[in-house]
Amino acid sequence: MVSRVASSDELQVRFWGIRGSTCASGPQFMEFGGHTACVEIRCGKRLFIVDAGTGISALGSALGEDVPDTIDILFSHLHLDHVGGLAFFKPALTKERLVRTYCGNLDGESAMVSLDKLFSPPLFPVRLGQFPARFEHVGFKAGDTLTFDDGARIGTHSLNHPGGATGYRFQHGNRSVCYISDVEHSEAWPDKALADFVHDADLMIYDGMFSEAEYPRCRGWGHSTWEKGVDLAKAAGVKALAIFHLYPGHDDAFIRAMEAEMKAVMPTAFVARERQSIILDASGQEAVADWPKAAKVPAV
Ligand SMILES: [Zn+2]
Ligand SMILES: [Zn+2]
Repeated sequence: MVSRVASSDELQVRFWGIRGSTCASGPQFMEFGGHTACVEIRCGKRLFIVDAGTGISALGSALGEDVPDTIDILFSHLHLDHVGGLAFFKPALTKERLVRTYCGNLDGESAMVSLDKLFSPPLFPVRLGQFPARFEHVGFKAGDTLTFDDGARIGTHSLNHPGGATGYRFQHGNRSVCYISDVEHSEAWPDKALADFVHDADLMIYDGMFSEAEYPRCRGWGHSTWEKGVDLAKAAGVKALAIFHLYPGHDDAFIRAMEAEMKAVMPTAFVARERQSIILDASGQEAVADWPKAAKVPAV
């Protein structure tokens, strides 16, 4: 069991949901996992949650008693695979808790109207407003820097996706992690503004839903390939790459083969596995906990 709280100088990432579009289930999906997008990020002890796909349910349970009074959930965007788990997040069942959501792809509008539509009869039995916890929904424009009461700051960047999406950059001490999902690469690649945004990151989590061979059939769907992730990482000096938003039809055997191919061109690239933890400490000595088959993030 990985220790739940990183020490104050660590930046910690834990994947709770790694699929895109919809869940995958069955024995052929056990290694990489089946839940949709949800990532826990700890800047020291400070908790951030990126996306509330079905993976957020297990995160809520794992937090146990170790839950801050205010929880910040950053949405890449509001497609179902990124918000569908929100009503199953256990800490929202506790009174005296504030759950704040952040949404950057609606021209400054918050997620409130959309989430109220989704979580209301007849689509869902109760509204978020009826939960014991209080919800607060913050809207911003992708590209803004988010600043929090405790001084935390998170960079954001607009991504090419139907309806838009927001990428995030977390910095803690001298370490940084970027979350770049969902995104479709442009004709001219790597995109310069995106490369500047992820420049020199220790880890980039990237939408590699399809392979280059599959992409021509999926053009315009708003997703990218692991090959384009490697191109971007190399051009921007990103040190390690985690391929994320996995296609639910790709089973473990397919993804293992894809990962081997990717590692041949970028040894520090790997495919994100559900419940995998990555700890980036100030010394540059990384540990990948809980999932022994996972790639090590290199010391810098
Ligand atoms: Zn998605
Ligand atoms: Zn999407």
